Amino acid sequence: MASSEILTRIQNEYEVVRTKHAQERDERIRRAYEKAPRLEELKRLMNLTGAKASLAALKEPEKAERISAELKRRIRLLEEERQRVMRQNNIDPDFDKLTYDCPLCSDTGYTPDSKRCSCFRRKLVEALYSYSNLGGLLKRQNFDNFDLNMYSDTIKPDGKTSVREYMGNVRDMCRRFCDNFDSETRGFLFYGNSGLGKTFLSSCIAKELMDRGRSVVYAKATRLFSVYEDMRFGRISPSDARPLTDSVYEADLLIIDDLGTESITKNTTAFLFDIINERAMNSRKMIISTNHSPEELTGIYSYRFTSRVYEYFYPIHFIGDSSEDIRVKQIKG
Ligand SMILES: [Zn+2]
Repeated sequence: MASSEILTRIQNEYEVVRTKHAQERDERIRRAYEKAPRLEELKRLMNLTGAKASLAALKEPEKAERISAELKRRIRLLEEERQRVMRQNNIDPDFDKLTYDCPLCSDTGYTPDSKRCSCFRRKLVEALYSYSNLGGLLKRQNFDNFDLNMYSDTIKPDGKTSVREYMGNVRDMCRRFCDNFDSETRGFLFYGNSGLGKTFLSSCIAKELMDRGRSVVYAKATRLFSVYEDMRFGRISPSDARPLTDSVYEADLLIIDDLGTESITKNTTAFLFDIINERAMNSRKMIISTNHSPEELTGIYSYRFTSRVYEYFYPIHFIGDSSEDIRVKQIKG
């Protein structure tokens, strides 16, 4: 699902809510009129009085002022009676008014000055989060919580830049990717040992983009390809697999985590190629994270795969030291 489809779905939700409230009001009116038929009559009289007065004012414009004053007087009398009837019958004075889930936008998603209502943003973010499979993870993993102190500032793999500085640059690059998401032509290949923050930074990007209203899908390679295999062998129906398989092609950003841990067959490789090609053709970006180096990926998938990767991805090497496993540091507190 692209974010535009999520927007349409939210608009439909608003429509359902508005219809529900309109039906509820109609039902309240029906019951009120059944209980106190005079109310319906009074409503009719008020409308009639107004219409008559407009007509009279058109015929005799010179008397418009007097007619209007008389109209006000009559409407007031009718309204007073209406209030009395409602009180006597214990009927809520607002029975014929529409109610709203969100009074700010009257359940349209837009405020009177044509701005997106806060409830719209809330619905959008909720929809995007649940669509992404990332829900819980994102509460902790976002740019604000990406702690560079997890990385050594003394170890300098190239003799000049410390691991911490290097990872700071990687983080900034990820931020820029979010800022320029529409104009970016490539995604990221995050590679390096596990525990160095690949999944964490993928989640940061996911959260940032979803908060900006883009759809993101996160899939562990093992799960993605096992669903695909299950479908191919008829173990699950294509319609059951569709929410995942469709989203893989259509999300604004697709994250495949831990590529190379799935069981690799000719078919899963073809599926992977298809995803990358199809998405690239539609200018949809991806993030792939893997513990394998690009050279190892060539061995696993083929040279053709790696050349595609260089075409559509920025390869980012996550570095550290065996003692610099940030996951271990985090657990230690
Ligand atoms: Zn609202």
